[in-house]
Amino acid sequence: MNKKERLVAAIEHGTVIDHIPADKTYHVASLLGLFDIKTPVTIGINYPSQKVGNKGIIKVSDKFFTDDEISRLSVVAPKVILNIIRDYEVVEKKTVETPDEIKGIVKCNNPKCITNNEPMQTHFHVNNGILTCHYCEKEQDINKFDDGNVDEYDNGGGTYSYLSDNRV
Ligand SMILES: [Zn+2]
Repeated sequence: MNKKERLVAAIEHGTVIDHIPADKTYHVASLLGLFDIKTPVTIGINYPSQKVGNKGIIKVSDKFFTDDEISRLSVVAPKVILNIIRDYEVVEKKTVETPDEIKGIVKCNNPKCITNNEPMQTHFHVNNGILTCHYCEKEQDINKFDDGNVDEYDNGGGTYSYLSDNRV
């Protein structure tokens, strides 16, 4: 194995997702559907990082994500870098773009919203960092997602709540 191969831990083709905040690593894996795919997946957490404190790294062999799939990470880990690997070389680096619409990732913080009372997917329109609920028009600030309250399922304080399974 040459030096280049060791650097990417011998992924020949695939995607290495880097700079994931360590405590968001499993959320990222879940949002990308990595628990349901058949190709090899390596999940590493608590690597030291200058950028994000401890970080997680996910390596997925023979898998390349669509821009739509990557955009799902915008509310959980907006600063991740996706390294596209072909023949052991990083051929492209992708960053997360905030999508125009977010479905099923964020919970509406209006307790009377139909999405909190019916078994259905949430749906938000995104505009300048503000998420507007498609159903009740309640607004939430996308940047609130960085304040560490992501894991609290229903804290009622105007922050996001994270749905670990978006097929609710
Ligand atoms: Zn709503």
